[in-house]
Amino acid sequence: MNFDCVVYGCSHYCNECLPDGVDINSDEVFPVFSTTELDYYPVCEECGEQHTYMTLTTEGRRNEGFWDIEIDGKSYRVEDVTTEGDLTVIETEDGYDFIVFESLEDAEDIIEEHYKELAVNDPQEFAALIGVDRLVFYALGNADIQEVFNEFRNQASNGYFGNECTVTEDTAGEDLRDELGFDPGIAFKR
Ligand SMILES: [Zn+2]
Repeated sequence: MNFDCVVYGCSHYCNECLPDGVDINSDEVFPVFSTTELDYYPVCEECGEQHTYMTLTTEGRRNEGFWDIEIDGKSYRVEDVTTEGDLTVIETEDGYDFIVFESLEDAEDIIEEHYKELAVNDPQEFAALIGVDRLVFYALGNADIQEVFNEFRNQASNGYFGNECTVTEDTAGEDLRDELGFDPGIAFKR
């Protein structure tokens, strides 16, 4: 038999959980095959076992948490994933936006990259940000310019992308991780 679960009446049952006297081969019993598309994984009316071998619809994958994520202890269902330049943004069904990264270090790298590009593309703006005196101090070799970039990196934890939040480990759903291409560990709420 290539199914473990059937529909009888309005309920699902494990094959062996059908009510006494109901034959699995009866016209009133409908097998649920693995190719059957459902909006939820069905639960046996009798024993409560959930069967997960069948196919889920897109809506079903959302219902079963394949698009869910837990941030700061709260569960969100993700509506969409978008990119803004180097940033990856998840939009939740209840209207929140989070910029997500695999780690804080990845967020800091993006900031450092941003300021390094600024230094090349708009040196005057960059000099104004740091202060010419200080820039000369570094230029004379009195200290490593990386110190400056480290200060910029610290902005990740100080509101650069928004409020820092923690993604609860292993809570990003399978579809969400596939879409992101990484397993998010940190999120910034905008
Ligand atoms: Zn059962």
